[in-house]
Amino acid sequence: MGLLLKVFIPLLGLALALYFYSAPENFSEEMLRGKRVIVTGASSGIGEQMAYHLARMEAHLLLTARTEAKLQKVVERCLELGAASARYVSGSMEDPTFPEVVVREAENTWGGLDMLILNHIGYSYFSYFNGDVGHVRKLLEINFLSYVAMTTSALPMLKESEGSIVVLSSMAGKTSGPFTAPYSATKFALDGFFSSLRHEFNIDKVNVSITLCILGYIDTENAVRAVSHAIRVTPAPKEECALEIIKSGVLRRRELHYPPWAVGSMLLLRDIAPDFLDSLIRSNYKVENIRR
Ligand code: NAP
Repeated sequence: MGLLLKVFIPLLGLALALYFYSAPENFSEEMLRGKRVIVTGASSGIGEQMAYHLARMEAHLLLTARTEAKLQKVVERCLELGAASARYVSGSMEDPTFPEVVVREAENTWGGLDMLILNHIGYSYFSYFNGDVGHVRKLLEINFLSYVAMTTSALPMLKESEGSIVVLSSMAGKTSGPFTAPYSATKFALDGFFSSLRHEFNIDKVNVSITLCILGYIDTENAVRAVSHAIRVTPAPKEECALEIIKSGVLRRRELHYPPWAVGSMLLLRDIAPDFLDSLIRSNYKVENIRR
């Protein structure tokens, strides 16, 4: 027992220190000045907030989502905030031809690209899996396959600029909770694809960074509307979240964990005590408020 304590406790301390250690940061807003950035899902939520931060940092912006009226307003605000330029292209990522349309727009406008921020998600229900395979297929098209297609189209320009790909994922893409089976599947798929691609870039000496953003609960209108009645967690602010995503992308970090303490401790528990984590996650849900 004594030996166990002597060995186990320092090891646990070391593991915790390594988990929560993050490299010294030297972010400066000038790093984004004049950079050419695509932000998907920019008509609301975290994508909209990223657009505003990037505008203040004087980046060139190409925004996309389905709702043209909202995109017009976001573009206007970006220009007021100081964007070097801002435009949008509207359409649905459910259409397999649309990802290439967006990337071609960037190529025709700028002749290159520095950062691709993949952030959009399609609507999914927050409840028990209802057996609708068609919905899972559609969500995979929007939340996963369109990310792969945009990356494929944008890669020649990103290789040229030695740019960055930023992929928005979730705790639901690292360790799952109930009531999000289709969504969670699409987020796990992103980790598999982009983490494998990162290896290949490394082997081939392709200097394009891939940052996977693992987010906890964030206070966007859509997320709060979907889950606030059923979970006992306070959401983190979308404005700060958006800034941390941009910083992580420009600093070419492998992963962002935000909010850091909540996501970091869940990932640590997932590796050392998965059953305990599962019961902890379930205890955070008000199951009685979930409609079947
Ligand atoms: P959100 O507010 O719901 O925004 C989603 C965006 O995607 C909107 O701009 C929406 O605009 C667009 N969109 C929806 N369907 C689309 C389609 N078929 N084709 C193209 N665009 C479409 O989302 P959010 O809460 O900011 O989340 C942003 C990212 O963070 C997502 O990847 C999400 O998984 C991740 N995340 C969020 C949370 C959270 O608690 N908020 C937690 C973990 C991870 P239109 O409707 O105009 O198309």
